[in-house]
Amino acid sequence: MSAVAFECKSLGFSCEWALRADTPREVVDRVRDHLRCAHNTPELSAEILRKVESAIHPV
Ligand SMILES: [Zn+2]
Repeated sequence: MSAVAFECKSLGFSCEWALRADTPREVVDRVRDHLRCAHNTPELSAEILRKVESAIHPV
């Protein structure tokens, strides 16, 4: 299985947080936690979710 990666700064945050995961689904779950803890964003809006999905890329 190929891994995927995501960088928080691709959402426009000044943030160096990034992660690598096995599936896009796992990335979305961890991004949701990160946005809640680090960016005071309790919910993933549809717009943010779209941005996350388009920013997820293969490693
Ligand atoms: Zn961040």
